[in-house]
Amino acid sequence: MICKVIVDISNGEVDRIFDYVVPDGLEVNKGDRVLVPFGNKKLEGFCIDTADKSDYDEGKLKQIISRLDEFSCISEEMLALMRFMKEKFYLRYIDCLRLFIPGQMRGGRVRELKRLYIELSPEFSDEERKKMIPARARRQLELVEKLKEGGEYLSVVTEEFGAATVNALVEKGIINKTDKPVYRKPYDALNCEENKVKLTASQQNAVDKILGGDKTVSLLYGVTGSGKTEVYMNAIERVLAQGKTAIMLVPEISLTPQMLRNFRARFSSGVAMLHSGLSQGERYDEWKRLLTGEARIVVGARSAVFAPLKNVGLIVIDEEHDASYSSESNPRYNTCDIARFRAEYNGGKLVLGSATPSIESFLLAQKGEYALVSLPERISRHGMPRIEIENMSQELICGNNGIFSRRLEAELRKTVESGNQAILFLNRRGHSSFAMCRKCGYIAKCEDCDVTLTYHSVDNMLKCHYCGKRYKMLTQCPECGSKEIRYGKVGTQRVVQELEKMFPGVGILRMDNETTTKKSAYLDILGAFKAKEAQILVGTQMIAKGHDFPDVTLVGILDADMSLYFSDYRSAERTFQLVTQVAGRAGRSDKEGLVILQTYSPSHYVYRFAKNYDYLGFFGKENNAREVTGFPPYSTILRVLMTGEDDEAVKTCAKNMFVDVRAYELENKHEFLFLQAMRSPVARIEKNYRYQILMRIKREYEAEVTREIYRIIDQNKTRGVSVFAQINPQSMS
Ligand code: ADP
Ligand code: ZN
Ligand code: ZN
Repeated sequence: MICKVIVDISNGEVDRIFDYVVPDGLEVNKGDRVLVPFGNKKLEGFCIDTADKSDYDEGKLKQIISRLDEFSCISEEMLALMRFMKEKFYLRYIDCLRLFIPGQMRGGRVRELKRLYIELSPEFSDEERKKMIPARARRQLELVEKLKEGGEYLSVVTEEFGAATVNALVEKGIINKTDKPVYRKPYDALNCEENKVKLTASQQNAVDKILGGDKTVSLLYGVTGSGKTEVYMNAIERVLAQGKTAIMLVPEISLTPQMLRNFRARFSSGVAMLHSGLSQGERYDEWKRLLTGEARIVVGARSAVFAPLKNVGLIVIDEEHDASYSSESNPRYNTCDIARFRAEYNGGKLVLGSATPSIESFLLAQKGEYALVSLPERISRHGMPRIEIENMSQELICGNNGIFSRRLEAELRKTVESGNQAILFLNRRGHSSFAMCRKCGYIAKCEDCDVTLTYHSVDNMLKCHYCGKRYKMLTQCPECGSKEIRYGKVGTQRVVQELEKMFPGVGILRMDNETTTKKSAYLDILGAFKAKEAQILVGTQMIAKGHDFPDVTLVGILDADMSLYFSDYRSAERTFQLVTQVAGRAGRSDKEGLVILQTYSPSHYVYRFAKNYDYLGFFGKENNAREVTGFPPYSTILRVLMTGEDDEAVKTCAKNMFVDVRAYELENKHEFLFLQAMRSPVARIEKNYRYQILMRIKREYEAEVTREIYRIIDQNKTRGVSVFAQINPQSMS
């Protein structure tokens, strides 16, 4: 027999299927991991198919050395998913397969814990057992009674009944002793109080529509605090009752103990958790519990979409608009596409939930491709907190050039004095910044793309990330002539320093990338704030979601504009989402909340809609703008990124590929909206030079053009140059 094997080679350019002969006496099935000779090495690989004959000379084929696991780890479904991912995202087979198993399995590093386990032998009936055990052997009879409810680990039983009792029963053959793997269950010790509520009519309706409708995908649009989590949990319960399984995805940052506790409480050990806080061993065990069907629900971040579950009845993507669902480093993939593939493959359902759905998803819902399910009201009778907008240009005119507006400072003082808490939010994304006039709020934009320019300090230029055009730095505002141009950004550290001066003795916590390099630090800081060890929390994106702080009555957004003018066609959308989310941190209990938003562009439509929590109004306006400017979802941005240490080689590869793409464009009537080859905005990262070909094409040609682009990439493979393809990338740097 012949095995088709994908060998786990680290060389980034090999993506072939190799034939191996299965030696007599070895059984290998589709989906098994195997050890094979490769060159002069022994490498691991995956058997993705078997055949009676090979197209090659079988005499020359090598033999499989061994099968690596006692179980098959890649299902038929995952093999199909692998093919889908290769075609859709231009990934190598092996890069897909690596995503499907815990990293620790590679290189044989897994150690399974095993313990002795005993259970009643099914050979004997109650009657027979009575005859075999003397009536005076009370302990033996008691143990039999206990084991009728199910097996138990030997050590546990011995402790209670003593070794003699156990041995007596083993000798008679009444109980069997076996080895059984012990799974490390993270969060086993979580306090599991079931908190079951009765669904409201709209929640019930949402569950019915998600599971009962004729569409595979539903968009659950529900304002913050509308009880979406209950909807998910109830839908999952129903799916389990039908004997199916479920996948619940949340952004990594929302995987708080609180969230995990809710699921543990409702589903006890039937739920497995996959997140970055787990040890390698725990991760493997959770994966294995899913593979064997011991756990039928997985809760996790992005990568949990690859959980080895069979017969998936429901996949939930909570906070579907979150950028973390798109993997931006190799292997690059989009979680929603994968989830949809799995839902369709299994005849299951996919639900995308959000208070601020992405423009793309909401448009699909409007067009009827997704079922639109709404939860328009908060569960609690308190409304959303009031949002006030502070004009920072006005502050400047009045002589205040500090970080805080006078109004925010006054409100902070009130909050601190009344013993309540405040959160101050700083908007930070990556390393980029823009040029802005502090007097009139003018922002430098690209003439051709209507996208904010990004300031690059390396060469002191402003660059458009969408067309590559470069502009000189501004020294004076072209609108009002002011020389007060701002490039820099205020850091969290400076904010804390200012606060310490203003409020000596008041506890202040800071949370950003620097203070949370250790994983536990994130939870420690949130825990300390919740315990009221500090009155003010200063932070970045990280504090935007998740936790409930009942005593927070004030939220300040210090520089909302940072994401508004981020060089990204989605920057208005991101800002709207951020403001809505951050605002949701205030006034969550009985106390009324206030949100103060500081901006240099107080009349911008994003703030107008965000202030009123008017998602639909915002969607209408933004959707229209995208249509007019020809940005996604009305077009598709394709970016082919080439990197390598030899500048000339990468450049030549980019040039050659560009010629082929241009030829294809001319041949094929449907003109691209944009096509250009250029150095990447960030020209070099870690010794690697970077070039890119950027394309914008009409949406309807997406599949056709991507296929062709992948073919062109394959044709132009160059030694020493890595090529990545991205569809609508989150970041263009
Ligand atoms: P969302 O995810 O939509 O922001 P949550 O699921 O966090 O909202 O729900 C908000 C709060 O309302 C939670 O404290 C939750 O326990 C509570 N809740 C949800 N559904 C109900 C219900 N049917 N009855 C009572 N309380 C509910
Ligand atoms: Zn100006
Ligand atoms: Zn441009």
